Amino acid sequence: MPELPIIDVRSDTVTHPTRAMREAMLNAEVGDDVYGDDPTVHRLERLAADLLGKEAALFVPTGNFGNQLALFTHCGRGDEVILGDDCHIVWHETGGAAVIAGVQLRTIESDKGVIRAEEVKKRIRDGSDIHWPKTGLICLENAHSNGRVIPLSAMADVAAVARLHGVPVHLDGARVFNAAVHLGCEVREITQYADSVMCCLSKGLAAPVGSILAGTHEFIAKARRNRKLLGGGMRQVGVLAAPGILALTEMVERLPEDHARAQRLAERLAALPGLDVDRSDVHINMVWFDLAPEVDTAKLMATLAAAGIRANPPEDGRMRLVTHWQIDDAALERLITAFATALG
Ligand SMILES: *Cc1c(COP(=O)(O)O)cnc(C)c1O
Repeated sequence: MPELPIIDVRSDTVTHPTRAMREAMLNAEVGDDVYGDDPTVHRLERLAADLLGKEAALFVPTGNFGNQLALFTHCGRGDEVILGDDCHIVWHETGGAAVIAGVQLRTIESDKGVIRAEEVKKRIRDGSDIHWPKTGLICLENAHSNGRVIPLSAMADVAAVARLHGVPVHLDGARVFNAAVHLGCEVREITQYADSVMCCLSKGLAAPVGSILAGTHEFIAKARRNRKLLGGGMRQVGVLAAPGILALTEMVERLPEDHARAQRLAERLAALPGLDVDRSDVHINMVWFDLAPEVDTAKLMATLAAAGIRANPPEDGRMRLVTHWQIDDAALERLITAFATALG
């Protein structure tokens, strides 16, 4: 019997480029992008800026790079950045904000990814007292890496406070296209509440590499210089921009499939013993759940591995599964069966 293909539900970052992407890479027109000569990069940046509703865009190596570049470009050293205490910039970017932008992160307790505008308002400081840092930036995240989509009204409230005080807003929109699918709106309806936005091409959109930072012409010109400073000026990078174009033109429209499979997965897992999934928290392609204390996690992980499933082990009893274009209906059934075997 032939070996079944591996099912990798650790993240949507594990997605391989599609065949069309590999062909586009082979055929991409290229030039030296540091000289501004790469036509494929220009096409990607124009397309991304239009979709994100911003004047200009910049191709960057990773989402992490894009977020840190935004902080570095918006802020001066010693500025304060206000953001939720459970956001990616605080948790998963290696403390980069202190090293690169040299900023202080001022966190606010988040309610499942939502930060309240009143709490932001209380913390904004203009630097007029010699003891005070100046608030340089406010960051939002949507979709949140907890798998939930933040309501537009919550973003609008924070943006209103920010504008009143003349503080820019950056949106970590690693999965902003997933957020738009969930809300049933255009991406620009989400990004309108931010001065700059980062989005990932290499997650559910399946490009092998790359993210976008978008904003005003002036901001992107400054960010382009700062990208060079950080060693991110890339040469014949049209080979990577080409799959990025397909990520935006062909892969966004199939995201609802991933969301529907996540819903189905949550529903079927909820029926199993020893596992508690809050289905109302499943907004995009992620299913989070708690395992009961009596569940033998070593046995669970071994059963999944034996069934050819790659999943991250639970942290503090909490586990995450992520759907993407390589998880089809057959893979989903194998995944559910493996959980049923392990827990049943
Ligand atoms: C993945 C992610 C990033 C970072 O993207 P990389 O390309 O992995 O560096 C930033 N923010 C959020 C919310 C993410 O989920």
